[in-house]
Amino acid sequence: MNPQVQAFTTPERLLLGPGPSPVAPSVLRALAQPTIGHLDPLLLQVQDEISALLRSVYGSESPWTIAFSGTGSSGMEGALVNLIEPGDVALVAVGGFFGARMVDVAQRAGARVIAVEHEWGRQADLAKLRKAAAAERVRFVCAVQAETSTGVRQDLAPLSQLARELDAFFVVDAVTSLGCMAVDCDAQGIDAAYSCSQKGLSCVPGLAPVTFSPRAQARIASRTRPVQSFYLDMNLLMRFWGGERGYHHTISSNLLVALHEALRLVHLEGLEARFERHARIGRSLRAGVRAMGLELFVPDEDALSQVTAIRIPAGVDDLRVRKRLLAEYGIEISGGLGAQKGRLWRVGMMGSGASLRNVVLVLDALAASLRAEGEPPLDSGVEAAQGAFAAGTS
Ligand SMILES: *Cc1c(COP(=O)(O)O)cnc(C)c1O
Repeated sequence: MNPQVQAFTTPERLLLGPGPSPVAPSVLRALAQPTIGHLDPLLLQVQDEISALLRSVYGSESPWTIAFSGTGSSGMEGALVNLIEPGDVALVAVGGFFGARMVDVAQRAGARVIAVEHEWGRQADLAKLRKAAAAERVRFVCAVQAETSTGVRQDLAPLSQLARELDAFFVVDAVTSLGCMAVDCDAQGIDAAYSCSQKGLSCVPGLAPVTFSPRAQARIASRTRPVQSFYLDMNLLMRFWGGERGYHHTISSNLLVALHEALRLVHLEGLEARFERHARIGRSLRAGVRAMGLELFVPDEDALSQVTAIRIPAGVDDLRVRKRLLAEYGIEISGGLGAQKGRLWRVGMMGSGASLRNVVLVLDALAASLRAEGEPPLDSGVEAAQGAFAAGTS
């Protein structure tokens, strides 16, 4: 061990990318409390309260509502690997990077996947999905509610309807929607949904809230073969989260206590107020970006509030601008993913990060960075953003 190694000090960053989002001080304080055992009776109480709070954010009454160890991807993996048996047909709507990841994970779980592509930047193509499903025994309809790679919001009702018509299970990626907008699992007929701790809930990364409907629970409990993943097997995990409280793995008490605090803050604000705040801040940011003379990637009717994708103007260097934002202003935004790499900036206004203050800061810093690149915007966008904000609640 090199005695010269210095303690690491994390700089202050303003996290305005599509996750992780800014973490409230009380959540960080909760995280820094002493570690306790995963079978400590006090932790069991924290888990019960997490489950109840999560049920409310998910709009689900299902007791199979817990948090997996791991990030949003462990939620995706867990949802699919618990439900899928080899050879099952899964219909997946793909309009971005995370829809494509669902295809990959469902295939690894043994499904025969019918991936139905639609234009990046728009909602799923229902006619195309219906056509692809015809004459197939589709067991799962899978979709991403908030496609973080493009900033598109997916209406769940038509896909839920399709799943019902096909007598299929409806699996929803709520990684970027949970805590920012309604998921409404029970009302939307969702059988499995998964998310992460570090986006709309504004906790640190490391946990993946998931929920399974009673129908999904029955299927998982009566599988013909065990869930391929020991770590994410809901039948085993529910012995730990449910009545028996038996050892399964050493879940991080620190992360659970932090998530508990983050969920408490969500409920303190109130779900409706929180969703409305995101909508208002999203409109404000979009108005500002437009006033700068920049182009938005997603038309208003399909746009998310919590992630805004901006087309990078021709001739502007993506990386140089983002490096400048980070180095000179301490602001993190993100670039494009997959086919949109180098072509999009993605600005997140998530959880505790969704504020007029942050809209103004990011617009001003982006305008200054564009001027420094010799590509001055029409306007800083700040007044337009303030105007849209003042125009108020929808
Ligand atoms: C971030 C994200 C994921 C993956 O979550 P990780 O926490 O990075 O593992 C999956 N789906 C969507 C829609 C996401 O935005």
